[in-house]
Amino acid sequence: MSDTAFCYHCSVHHAMAEMRQIVTKGGKRWRCIKSIEAARAGLEARNAFGQRMTEINKAETQSRQSRMVNPELDAHNRSGGR
Ligand SMILES: [Zn+2]
Repeated sequence: MSDTAFCYHCSVHHAMAEMRQIVTKGGKRWRCIKSIEAARAGLEARNAFGQRMTEINKAETQSRQSRMVNPELDAHNRSGGR
């Protein structure tokens, strides 16, 4: 009989070789590497998506702000300095 551990993520037993012990609020739990990797890949994809959205929002805000700026005032500020 091979060693198995209960995977709290899948709610099934996996072979110990495929498991990682992780510490949660409820104590030490076993979780399979596959589910950890899948969660991490999902998280990275989400982070990358969030980063893209943040950049798009930033660019939109900047273009909206530069449109509101008075061009004459802006030229004056840049050439003046004092
Ligand atoms: Zn699992």
